[in-house]
Amino acid sequence: MQTYKAPLRDMRFVLHELHGDTKITDLPGCADFTPELIDSILEEAGKVAEEVLLPLNASGDEEGCHYENGVVRTPKGFRDAYRTFREGGWTGIACDPQYGGQGLAQSVAMPVFEMFNSANMAFSIYALLNNGAYEAIAAHGSDEQKNLYLPKLTEGAWTGTMCLTEEHSGSDVGIVRTKAVPQDDGTYRISGTKLFISGGEHDLAENIVHLVLARLPDAPAGVKGISLFIVPKFLPTAGGGVGPRNGVVCASIEHKMGINANATAQLVFDDATGWILGRPHKGLSAMFAMMNAARLGVGMQGIGIGEVAYQSAVAYAKDRIQGRALSGAKDPSKPADPIIVHPDVRRMLLTMRAYNEGCRALGGWVSRMLDIAHRSPDPERREEAEDFVELMTPIVKALFTDLGLETANLGMQVYGGHGYVRDHGVEQFVRDGRIMLIYEGTNGIQALDLVGRKLPAHAGRSLRRFFHPVAAFIEENRNHPMLGEMVQGYEKAFGALQLATAHIATKGLSDPEEAGAAASEYLRLFGLVALGYIWARSAKLAQEKMTTAGSEAGFYQAKLQTARFYFERILPQAGSLWFAIKSGKDAMMSFNDGAF
Ligand SMILES: Cc1cc2nc3c(=O)[nH]c(=O)nc-3n(C[C@H](O)[C@H](O)[C@H](O)COP(=O)(O)OP(=O)(O)OC[C@H]3O[C@@H](n4cnc5c(N)ncnc54)[C@H](O)[C@@H]3O)c2cc1C
Repeated sequence: MQTYKAPLRDMRFVLHELHGDTKITDLPGCADFTPELIDSILEEAGKVAEEVLLPLNASGDEEGCHYENGVVRTPKGFRDAYRTFREGGWTGIACDPQYGGQGLAQSVAMPVFEMFNSANMAFSIYALLNNGAYEAIAAHGSDEQKNLYLPKLTEGAWTGTMCLTEEHSGSDVGIVRTKAVPQDDGTYRISGTKLFISGGEHDLAENIVHLVLARLPDAPAGVKGISLFIVPKFLPTAGGGVGPRNGVVCASIEHKMGINANATAQLVFDDATGWILGRPHKGLSAMFAMMNAARLGVGMQGIGIGEVAYQSAVAYAKDRIQGRALSGAKDPSKPADPIIVHPDVRRMLLTMRAYNEGCRALGGWVSRMLDIAHRSPDPERREEAEDFVELMTPIVKALFTDLGLETANLGMQVYGGHGYVRDHGVEQFVRDGRIMLIYEGTNGIQALDLVGRKLPAHAGRSLRRFFHPVAAFIEENRNHPMLGEMVQGYEKAFGALQLATAHIATKGLSDPEEAGAAASEYLRLFGLVALGYIWARSAKLAQEKMTTAGSEAGFYQAKLQTARFYFERILPQAGSLWFAIKSGKDAMMSFNDGAF
């Protein structure tokens, strides 16, 4: 059975205790968001996840979307759920109050998205895409565009899409062929075919606002020649209503491995009317406003899938009886002990837990910095926070989704054969979660972004935003009476990351293939070290609070023990990653193409 209870206690730990040094209420526009209000928002979101979305997860997967003559119907129950979702204001929680949103800080919105993704990832993608479109229009739209589209997206009356991919153009968006021809009235005629468009057609909302990447007739080749256009399914009327149908049709939807309840559409634009978003040939920066929001959102999918897989596996491991504990029977009244007694099952459960809680805490840090970047009145703090978020975005996207899928796989392993067959619904987590590593830029592309763009950014200034607090923490806690040993072990992993960074910076300069060959392992190493920092801080806090925590002592004790597991059983991988990176490109690049 798919088991899920919103992990509210851990979310409160992240929001109020671990990252509580920058109070959300101190941020401009957030004075009302007291811890009490935030907790009640999280509780309500948890109820929507558990009571509205989770019950539709397996049935939506089973039924899938229906396509007929250009029309897509979502599975039974989705329209009602979407109405409930809209009425609750969840489509616009992080949107600007000026456009009808709740103006919630990103650090609160992210755990909300995590819960929705745990309960029903396919449903949540319809909303996730809205955020990307909203961010792009908010950052690059004219006042007229903002006033027309943002209230509709906020309200969820209209949903957004990102139309980048074409048959021949996936990771390489510089070669898109969709054309945009300027018209005398200032609009553009858009023609071309876009593939794999999430939520490209559905029956949940009145209109769909496609953000389409296309080329103008005079566009230079490559990414310097792409522009972004707003192309609504129905042309808006002067009063902001829904007018005649635009020249875009859904030619088909994909039959795919997972997220079956989310329509992945092939869209044909045939002289469709569009409006340019931002400046001609500057589509890349508008696209990144959209993609960065979506990449952090996909990171939340990673935790979401990981959490539901973990909770389901724990419930099963306590119930399923097989074999006897190696230390002697734990429950002699039964023919066998529950599988949770076995070291290997505990290894799997603790790995899952350490990944989920670590990513939640690291994601909490990144989203708090995102709030500072967006809202702080202090330009220096804003710059510092922006650097940090830029650096961490590929890590959140790729690490969280890699670990989310590993967690879903471990969850299935805990169920054994009963996980592989469909009855318990846990194979759905693996099928649904697999796409997280592919869309919004594959995880390989994220790794290249990290080594190629983020490491050298601002002459290493972004990197220092992470390295400096880590180095200061190590310095301060190396001789900590309780945690000193853990911190000293951590220092070695941090040292490996420093060596790998210097290695890539030097080698990559003279030979970019060296950086490319090291990129994925480097991202994993960076991610594990970042999780290590957050686990060390969590452990320190838990240790300080435990003795006076009363009935909460169990929570802090479990936090401390999970941290210990992370440092003893997971972080040592940092050493081998460094060895792999150091070995260089030769083992793969000298291999003869013909021998593959
Ligand atoms: C279910 C689903 C939903 C999607 N939703 C959307 C959506 O809403 N909007 C949208 O525009 N697109 C969407 N996509 C498309 C998705 O973003 C692309 O599939 C993805 O960007 C990869 O492109 P590709 O499939 O063409 O693979 P390719 O780009 O052909 O990549 C194939 C492999 O080569 C690697 N590779 C490619 N180039 C490089 C390089 N330079 N260096 C190293 N490795 C490289 C990749 O990492 C990958 O492993 C969706 C796809 C799916 C399956």
